[in-house]
Amino acid sequence: MLRLLHAGLCRSPASVSALRPAHTLVGVRTLSQAVRDVRAQMSEVAQSTLKSTQLNVLFESADVVVAGRPTGALAMNQYMVACKARARARHGSLIFFSQHTKQACFIDAGESPSIFGHWAATNGFSLSKVLLTHGHPDHVAGLRETIDTFPQADVYLHEEDQATLSEAPEFGKTFDLTIYPVYWDEVQSISDGDVLQVGNLRFECLHTPGHCAGHVCFYERQHQLFFAGDTLFKDTVGRTDLPGGNRDQMHQSLVYIMSQELQDNCVIFPGHMATTTFGRERRFNLFLKRPIAQAKRLIAAMASQQAQAQ
Ligand SMILES: [Zn+2]
Ligand SMILES: [Zn+2]
Repeated sequence: MLRLLHAGLCRSPASVSALRPAHTLVGVRTLSQAVRDVRAQMSEVAQSTLKSTQLNVLFESADVVVAGRPTGALAMNQYMVACKARARARHGSLIFFSQHTKQACFIDAGESPSIFGHWAATNGFSLSKVLLTHGHPDHVAGLRETIDTFPQADVYLHEEDQATLSEAPEFGKTFDLTIYPVYWDEVQSISDGDVLQVGNLRFECLHTPGHCAGHVCFYERQHQLFFAGDTLFKDTVGRTDLPGGNRDQMHQSLVYIMSQELQDNCVIFPGHMATTTFGRERRFNLFLKRPIAQAKRLIAAMASQQAQAQ
């Protein structure tokens, strides 16, 4: 049941296929098959209890807190990441601390922002940014209301997901989801390598196409927090059989991710299902075997090139 609850528009569809490499899974499926999958999984979610009004604190340290909850009929994990630390300013050898920054951001916007907004207000955080991993309906279902409720918050999405965002209301109808439109001029375009600052937190944008053309993961390196959207999950990876999906790009994106300096204790916050860590996924996620091997070869080749250049 749990596996079905969190599949939907995200993970590779067949759980048994987790025993096979990702590239054998995809490519033979048609869109209508994918839609049938998603609808079946939505009915499973509808029978579950998504009625909680609570946010779960998923990670907390001295200067950052991550809270989240599954939202909507596809149980999309929306997160709020808040900076608890004081802003620092250096003058000569002296470091001054201003008031606590109390800045926060959403990762994706799957529902009305009221529960997140209430939690933020209760804890004294203010929303300054909305970071979208991609424009699929389950990830933007609450975006219109979020923009209207928090007009001061800038919204960020990769430029290659402009079409995905504009098609979300129509695509959502396929799954009986009502999505109110958000227009591209309301969004800030981001590219691979951009860094988005939220208080003292720095979110690096990693362009990871494959699930859709403009998919982005957000990596907060200092605290080893990785927001994976629908690219990487506990024990599996994102599906590539929806419009804009591409299995070769997914493979390359996984190589790109596994080439980053990700510690074993780096927490992965996926778009669906439970959090996990890179240490765990390196050991148990069979879909990562080939990307990890290729990433190792790339890193070794680069090190060799650097050694020769010196
Ligand atoms: Zn999703
Ligand atoms: Zn998606």
